Amino acid sequence: AAPVAMVAGMSSMSKHHVIVKSGPTLEQLGRAKTFAFDKTGTLTQNQLVIQEVIPEAGFTKEEIQSDAASLETQSGHIIASSLVKGTPKDWIKPVNDLQESTGNGVSGTVNGKLVKVGKLAYVAPDSGVKKAPTTAVYVSVDGKYAGHITFKDQLRPETPATLARLRRQGAKHIMMLTGDNQDVANAIAEAAGVDDVRAGLLPAEKIEAIKGVSEDNRPVVMTGDGINDAPSLTAADVGIAMGAKGATAASESADVVIMTDDISKINDAVAISKHTMKVAE
Ligand code: ADP
Ligand code: MG
Repeated sequence: AAPVAMVAGMSSMSKHHVIVKSGPTLEQLGRAKTFAFDKTGTLTQNQLVIQEVIPEAGFTKEEIQSDAASLETQSGHIIASSLVKGTPKDWIKPVNDLQESTGNGVSGTVNGKLVKVGKLAYVAPDSGVKKAPTTAVYVSVDGKYAGHITFKDQLRPETPATLARLRRQGAKHIMMLTGDNQDVANAIAEAAGVDDVRAGLLPAEKIEAIKGVSEDNRPVVMTGDGINDAPSLTAADVGIAMGAKGATAASESADVVIMTDDISKINDAVAISKHTMKVAE
């Protein structure tokens, strides 16, 4: 496309609160055939609601929620901020020796106890505990499984219409790449209108899923909101970071940044790209 048309296209995007970092990105966005999405915080709302706190025998609800939320004050994960928001302020304790394992969870010392919070496989792999069929974080204390906390993960109201319009705009393949469990992923995918669901993925497996998209189905656009999405945004032909805060954790790795908390902006971006390329032909 002519440089003038490109500049006009990028300027038009910015009026829609979409920042496009380069001309080639603008061009690829208009031709994209596969749209991949992270689930939690991207197809679903950017805050989850605590549903139930379920302690093991020997632990109390307050103890596991307090320990878990204290650690999660140090994580940028959307489940982390949702847990902290739903926990009384005076339950939050100081944390030492904090370590975050991206895509897995967080560990650290709270009140002299070694606490881990996150995925079951990270927190208590050999406990024999069954995974809950809902979005959940698991907690262990001094190496012992201590309980779990379940969350309600709700679809963004604008998600189904956004995906339907993407199909009318030429999308052949719509994928969900999530670290969450298969049951939750299937339910959200069905409601959203996703046709290819990949669940239980670690950040490296999300990259593999993107690399595995066939030549016929490219370019691939990946949209995500969190720091654990950064590698997959880089692996895609076009990486889109979304978040109301403007500079989300994933923005640096992205080719496009959606500055408002509204996934339908992706339709505007595709429309403007198509328009720009046609003008320039
Ligand atoms: P999605 O890809 O759908 O956004 P993620 O891969 O970000 O999902 O997270 C999937 C799962 O990873 C969560 O359901 C949770 O079990 C676990 N997880 C990762 N990081 C954290 C954290 N800091 N705190 C709690 N859970 C975490
Ligand atoms: Mg996410």
